Amino acid sequence: MSKTLQAIRGMNDILPAQTPVWRYLESTFSELLDSYGYSEIRLPIVEYTELFARGIGEGTDVVDKEMYTFLDRNEESLTLRPEGTAGCVRAVLEHGLSGGGQVQKLWYLGPMFRYEKPQKGRYRQFHQIGVEVFNQPGPDIDAELIVLTARLWKKLGIADAVTLQLNSLGSSEARAAYRDALVVYLQQRFDQLDEDSQRRLTTNPLRILDSKNAQTQALLADAPTLLEYLDEDSRSHFEGLKSRLDVLGIAYEINPKLVRGLDYYGRTVFEWITDKLGSQGTVCAGGRYDGLISQFGGKPTPGVGFAMGVERLVLLVETLQQVPAELSRPAHAYICAFGEPAELAALALSEQLRDTLPGLRVLVNAGAGSFKSQFKKADKSGAQFALILGEDELAKRVVGCKPLRDDSEQQSIAWDALAGHLAGLVQDRGR
Ligand code: ATP
Ligand code: MG
Repeated sequence: MSKTLQAIRGMNDILPAQTPVWRYLESTFSELLDSYGYSEIRLPIVEYTELFARGIGEGTDVVDKEMYTFLDRNEESLTLRPEGTAGCVRAVLEHGLSGGGQVQKLWYLGPMFRYEKPQKGRYRQFHQIGVEVFNQPGPDIDAELIVLTARLWKKLGIADAVTLQLNSLGSSEARAAYRDALVVYLQQRFDQLDEDSQRRLTTNPLRILDSKNAQTQALLADAPTLLEYLDEDSRSHFEGLKSRLDVLGIAYEINPKLVRGLDYYGRTVFEWITDKLGSQGTVCAGGRYDGLISQFGGKPTPGVGFAMGVERLVLLVETLQQVPAELSRPAHAYICAFGEPAELAALALSEQLRDTLPGLRVLVNAGAGSFKSQFKKADKSGAQFALILGEDELAKRVVGCKPLRDDSEQQSIAWDALAGHLAGLVQDRGR
């Protein structure tokens, strides 16, 4: 017997029972971004490997250990995108969207791929909703990105479960000075560092701040902090952001250890974290990357953005029981027909109903069957009404309309009056 085929570990099917909550998140998000004037951009899932090597950077976990990279039939090295920023910057440059200082406020949504150890909240194919803004250098736009995510948490009913962490990485000069100080401090404690951190001390020392190792974290308690090294411009940028968040009533915690280990990230970095999902607690991470576009050969262009993990948001909305009840959308009506002439009439009637009431969800019984079996299917479908068409009804040009969700009596309704009778159902639903 042949082996049953299975999905790749860490790559999930999103089954019909789950798609309503996904669609709910996606539509909540796109409507929200619409209201802030952001436009959607759709990008390829596969790019040249070099894009990520340059755009994310060698020496990062993503590039060194997590990418799905392969040669295509033309022997070119391609990679399934592990994140969206690099591809978005590539597209913006390729199409001249940021030229002449044009402001771009963009968002995207889609699958990302990283070869990680699958566990709750961490998968090999996962989905991100990302936002990127180009040519806006000020703290005002940083604040806008944060306030719109805060609004999203409120809409989703998860605001009480997430907190905002904030840091400033300063200018590249400030970071370089800080890096030197940190290296001196850690060099003196080299033997106590975990292996990864020992390696990073030469490759990417700022990433050590991010270490999950408890002993290393303890060691960092008295380390110099980035904020002591901030340059004047970055300091006032940071103050500008904080005063905006204060006015908006958005609480934050300054976390001097919040870093992006890449040189083109500077100034604002932020994360929204939750303690409701175990160790996969970051639901949204973002920051300013004013140095990235020139890294790709473009003119220096301010950029700032964030990405959130859709799976983690779905888990959080479910964990907090915030999935709206009205997401399940059973049919309004289920048509049962007995005998071929009635089946033909049912078909025509269902199409007329769809013409007249575009929001109506109407199921037509397929595969014939006895009264009992069709009625059972109608009930199981969750429909509000069974519409019954037999020989008698056909002769009188009526349907039997039997409410399925309460005990009220079956009514006989003329075909012409049926749309009017069902119209209330459609308006009720709002969408
Ligand atoms: P982590 O520290 O959890 O590995 P990261 O720093 O690698 O996160 P980013 O590259 O900043 O994550 O991605 C932004 C967001 O995408 C994360 O905050 C998280 O919500 C989500 N995310 C990242 N990797 C995964 C994954 N493997 N599975 C599910 N969601 C993920
Ligand atoms: Mg990661």
